[in-house]
Amino acid sequence: MTKQTFHLVSLGCAKNTVDSDSMAQLLLRDGYRAVDDPSRASVLIVNTCGFIGPAKEESLRVLRELAEGKKRNQILIAAGCLTQRYGAEVAEKVPGVDGVLGTRRWMDILQVVHELRQGPHPEPLYHLPDEAKTVGTDEHDAMRVSVAGASAYLKIADGCRRPCAFCAIPLIKGTAVSRPIESILEEARRLRDMGVRELVLIAQDTTDYGHDLGMKDGLAILLERLVKEVAEESPSPQGRGDRGEGLDWIRVMYAYPGYVTDRLIDVMASSRQVLPYLDMPLQHAHPKTLYRMRRPSNMEWVYKTLDKMRSRIANLAIRTTFIVGYPGETEEEFQTLYDFVKEIRFDRVGAFQFSFEPGTASEPLGDPIPAEVKAERYARLMELQQGISLQINQSYVGKTLDVLIEGRDNGIAIGRSYRDAPEIDGLVFVEGNAQVGEIVPVKITGAMAYDLTGVPVPSLINL
Ligand code: SF4
Repeated sequence: MTKQTFHLVSLGCAKNTVDSDSMAQLLLRDGYRAVDDPSRASVLIVNTCGFIGPAKEESLRVLRELAEGKKRNQILIAAGCLTQRYGAEVAEKVPGVDGVLGTRRWMDILQVVHELRQGPHPEPLYHLPDEAKTVGTDEHDAMRVSVAGASAYLKIADGCRRPCAFCAIPLIKGTAVSRPIESILEEARRLRDMGVRELVLIAQDTTDYGHDLGMKDGLAILLERLVKEVAEESPSPQGRGDRGEGLDWIRVMYAYPGYVTDRLIDVMASSRQVLPYLDMPLQHAHPKTLYRMRRPSNMEWVYKTLDKMRSRIANLAIRTTFIVGYPGETEEEFQTLYDFVKEIRFDRVGAFQFSFEPGTASEPLGDPIPAEVKAERYARLMELQQGISLQINQSYVGKTLDVLIEGRDNGIAIGRSYRDAPEIDGLVFVEGNAQVGEIVPVKITGAMAYDLTGVPVPSLINL
């Protein structure tokens, strides 16, 4: 084991990945080296997820495993959503945890590591939030990204001010705090100059971007400026834009129903770089369930907006997520959701079985739907969606899609089209020599429920 090594396990969503990468960057800059084998690391870090029950269990399990194998000269730090929410309780549940960092204190990682490595520490060291506004400061803004290959997540805000009754995020992260637009643009330029081809904008609710800064239509304004001031400018010659390309794809995740404005639709419809991909978690389709969830329950708006978007934005791919088995969900309410999914024919659907979160507004409702009913509804919904996804995927056979290549395996290039967000959607498997980081036109030759196969268009010419 060398002195300056760390092993970091990142659990949960893309927003957590951004924080994990930011911590890793700080450690790397301080001379630490990342290692895959925990037994060779001097610092062990788990960036936990506390979103739902199973995620909490997984976080505690990973922490326990590392704590049990911990050597005398190793330190173990728990960071992320679980610690933000449960603080000292995490260290009580997992003896062996030496440091506890909240989500908005990830930037304290070096301080905690240095303090812990100074000598014995009978008690865990806590760096928990005082709701500091960390996403807005320049020093930290420089690291609000996570880059994988030619794609980067860029966090534009953190926290959430929505009242969804099932969700612990506002309890964990506090209200929404947006990053200043100039700092996002600067970051985007830097990423473009590094050769990033796809920027994935994330926040708990991207459509709320800028509200706390007094902006109206903040997300649309941000997209307009990203297109004009970053994507349409050439990469700087000294950057890694040596493939001769620039920032071609800008993807928006996590839109909140009711806040997709005409200006946002306009920018999605008119900008080549803003992908025709909408991720709008709807959570349910029955007004009564939505009302109990404290979510927008105006389904008329949903129908109208989806119609409007589909008619204005060519080839729009729509992704959504639903919760099944929410307290009080009757068979009739579930059937409404089922029929809605059948009717709308989303490109992608993610579903969760309701998991009770103490402290949330839904707490008084309990968790009355039996596990087997939830599982059965979940299976029915996913089976329906699989058939729809397969049919939609089959409709692409013979068509050409641009594919961003992200890896190669056994002579096959693996990438994603505009229809696939990283980590959650499908893949496109491409025959031939396409290189990682390239965006290549691919003729689709085969379709599965989630993934596609194809050949690069130039190779057809050579046949
Ligand atoms: S929009 Fe609702 S579900 Fe999403 S993070 Fe905010 S409170 Fe949670």
